Amino acid sequence: MAIQKNKICLVGAGLANGMLAWFLSKRHPDLPVVIYESKSCIDLGRTWSFHKSDISPTAFKLMESLAAYRWPAYEVRFPQFHKRFESEYLSVTPEVLHNELLNAGVEFQFSSPIQNVFEDHIVFDDGQKQFFSCVFDGRGFKTSAARLGYQKFVGQVLRLKKQHGLTAPLLMDATVKQVDGYRFFYTLPLSNNEVLVEDTRYANNPDLDHDEFANEIARYAKAQGWDIEQILKVESGVLPIPLDEERIDANSSIKLGMAGGFFHPVTGYSLADCVRMAEGITELKDINKHTVAELLKNYRSQQALRRKFYFLLNRMMFLAAPDAERRKIFEHFYGLSPALIERFYSGSTNAFDALRILTGKPPVDVWPAVRAVFSRKEKEAI
Ligand SMILES: Cc1cc2nc3c(=O)[nH]c(=O)nc-3n(C[C@H](O)[C@H](O)[C@H](O)COP(=O)(O)OP(=O)(O)OC[C@H]3O[C@@H](n4cnc5c(N)ncnc54)[C@H](O)[C@@H]3O)c2cc1C
Repeated sequence: MAIQKNKICLVGAGLANGMLAWFLSKRHPDLPVVIYESKSCIDLGRTWSFHKSDISPTAFKLMESLAAYRWPAYEVRFPQFHKRFESEYLSVTPEVLHNELLNAGVEFQFSSPIQNVFEDHIVFDDGQKQFFSCVFDGRGFKTSAARLGYQKFVGQVLRLKKQHGLTAPLLMDATVKQVDGYRFFYTLPLSNNEVLVEDTRYANNPDLDHDEFANEIARYAKAQGWDIEQILKVESGVLPIPLDEERIDANSSIKLGMAGGFFHPVTGYSLADCVRMAEGITELKDINKHTVAELLKNYRSQQALRRKFYFLLNRMMFLAAPDAERRKIFEHFYGLSPALIERFYSGSTNAFDALRILTGKPPVDVWPAVRAVFSRKEKEAI
């Protein structure tokens, strides 16, 4: 048994622990931090994006220096309209994050699967224990939600033979053929002739046919008039979209990120929650298992009511709206005010916003929606 009482231990070298390590390195540079990761290296197959308005101005100051890409605006495209939002959008890459953490002196232990994680110690595969002042469990997604929908996608970073002509990220191009639920293309212009193009679907099943998605990306690129020179990188994901409140076992370890259920229930995105956690933890006078557990408990209860609303929206989308109609929910949403949309993505929807989202020209037939929201029978439907 080894004891390193003044050291912080992070299990899992993903986004949640990466954000915490980054904030610790900036705000508590003398506090030693070690990250244990089961894989042999950082998972490079991700691009983590966020809106400037998702996080506090103080946190943004720390995040902007990490951003690999940054745009002053973004756009969405639906059959009825094409809209541009003058609202900053940024992306963080695992490469940049990892390098910055190494430069800051964070210790990485790769190929180190941790068998058990507790709030002040970890247990290795061989049964050895190691104690720390505080241990964070960021081992990624596990859910107890009874019903799930999925946001699944395959993305490719394409180098084009000529310039793409985009002036801002196109976060939803929903003018494409609707298959497998709600479908849109997500495009980030990374340089004049490089773009990340993702085919994304809000679907009832998690199956991902990589070849089919790759063909669709090629077809989409062609339709935009883009000639592909090379595929530089591929990323894919099947993000859980819970339809009900999850039960998080908060007793055995201090869970961050997806492991703790800290993600936006509708988008499956977790960067904003990760940053808020990192911000809150590094503001504590004394970072220990008691103060951190209390902080997370309070955060969870502050979010509870809003999360209920987001779960309700998910049930409307996955249970009440026929596949072909799901697009209308998003089209209705993007027709609302930019401030409401910002609050939605940052997870701070208020009661008035909720009414605006649910009313107006109903995005789905009201009666099936009401049945879906209040009935348990739809369990079999998913
Ligand atoms: C391709 C992709 C793109 C995404 N893009 C965005 C985005 O743009 N914006 C956004 O907000 N969200 C995005 N998400 C959603 C979400 O934010 C990410 O999935 C994010 O990486 C989740 O962070 P995490 O730290 O909770 O888990 P992960 O990043 O999955 O990290 C968990 C880590 O724990 C390790 N691990 C697991 N078990 C053990 C063990 N026993 N011992 C040691 N290590 C272990 C894993 O190997 C992994 O490295 C994206 C997801 C994917 C898949």
